[in-house]
Amino acid sequence: MKVLVIGAGLGGLLIAAWLSKEGHEVAVFERLPITGGRFTNIEYKGFQLSTGALHMIPHGPTGPLGTLLRDIGAAVKIIRADPMAVIRVPIEKNTTDYVHGYQDIDFHDFRKRFSLINKIKLAILITTTRIFPPKKGSMEEWCSKHLKEDWAIRIADSFCGWALSLRAKDVPAAEVFEIIENMYRYSGSGVPLGGCKGITDALVDVIYSSGGTIQTSSEVSRIIIEDQKAVGIIANGKEYRGNIVISDTGHIETSRLYDTNALDVDTEKYLTSIKELKPSAGVKICLSSQESLIGHAGTLLTPYARRVNGINEVTNIDPSLAPSGKHLTMAHQCVEWEKLDRLEEEIDLGLKDLSEIFAGRDYEILLIQSYSGEWPVNRSSSGTDLTNRTPIEGLYVVGDGAKGKGGIEVDGIALGVRNAMKDIRN
Ligand code: FAD
Repeated sequence: MKVLVIGAGLGGLLIAAWLSKEGHEVAVFERLPITGGRFTNIEYKGFQLSTGALHMIPHGPTGPLGTLLRDIGAAVKIIRADPMAVIRVPIEKNTTDYVHGYQDIDFHDFRKRFSLINKIKLAILITTTRIFPPKKGSMEEWCSKHLKEDWAIRIADSFCGWALSLRAKDVPAAEVFEIIENMYRYSGSGVPLGGCKGITDALVDVIYSSGGTIQTSSEVSRIIIEDQKAVGIIANGKEYRGNIVISDTGHIETSRLYDTNALDVDTEKYLTSIKELKPSAGVKICLSSQESLIGHAGTLLTPYARRVNGINEVTNIDPSLAPSGKHLTMAHQCVEWEKLDRLEEEIDLGLKDLSEIFAGRDYEILLIQSYSGEWPVNRSSSGTDLTNRTPIEGLYVVGDGAKGKGGIEVDGIALGVRNAMKDIRN
């Protein structure tokens, strides 16, 4: 089978590597001069900063991505973060900021901060929601209904902001519980050696060694549809033919590459559903320091910060991501859709948070990156992903616009790629 893949981000590379390895003739087209999309490194002042991700795999070596990479034969090592996460809380229970002192508690101890009655409720809820997950409503609504405590909303917002770049009010409770279920199933996060690039470069190697091709600086301007079936693409003005076309550019961008009016199949429902997809936005602040600011490679959740949801320090696992003797620390904050036109203000609040979270510590701001629109944190906000199918025969979508259910970020992409493979094989 001849396969044409649009986009060399993680989703495109995963499926291209897998199909090449299975002996199919695969050609990848990437509009940028580099591969990896939002999952590769850019060298800056000797630091391996990334084009998007925080060099972190949500479920580490045994999650959906780690397992898929092993199945594909990509030479990658993902080291589990230990502890998985800690939470920074004010020392005095009645204060709501870090200015008057703080302590870090293990993530699993978050229950201890609830009132006695909520501790009892939570013990029951943890069991019952696993059996009867919520069917509707947001995570914030679920917390307000069942726990009615400021701490519940704070921890939900911090977790959703860090893991999904969304406020708890914007994530369906059902999706969060599916994610929690996956945390039981696959365990916690890890850092790939070499950062994001360690993974995407290993996939590029698999594609080349299996006879596939990758053309960079090749923008696809059209998907050719004949007899209601995807049969080719046009890249840099040249036509390429294939048996199937797989797009790593999300459902919205993909639909712009063909003329929906010329199709006989009913696309109305599909086009209406993709119009409702909203990319999640965020800001990443990269810090350099001589001394370790966190002391471990797990996530530091910051539920009492104004904007920063969480921070990691990946050099505690892979020192090669920074120049010798330095640390790379990254803070992430979600940006609510209605605040996107006040990005400067949001960044200032994030910087103010960091000055309080790391008060008295010596660090330098390396780079501030913002993500929205067509270069977002997530192409469709978690819980709203569509499947890998399109109304057109032979045209599939992979990547973070078509993640698998309950899949956080790149682990969700891996779940989606597995689903797409099942469809393609049938
Ligand atoms: P992309 O990486 O966007 O790839 C799509 C590719 O298609 C791009 O290279 C693009 O140039 C190309 N393309 C687009 N249009 C065309 C065209 N017409 N022709 C040819 N090529 C085209 N995930 C995690 O798991 N862990 C994290 O720690 C994490 N942190 C994050 C932090 C931030 C700030 C951000 C922004 C994201 C983070 N993510 C994280 C999410 C993760 O980076 C993305 O989910 C993932 O990289 C998306 O991969 P993709 O292949 O779906 O899309």
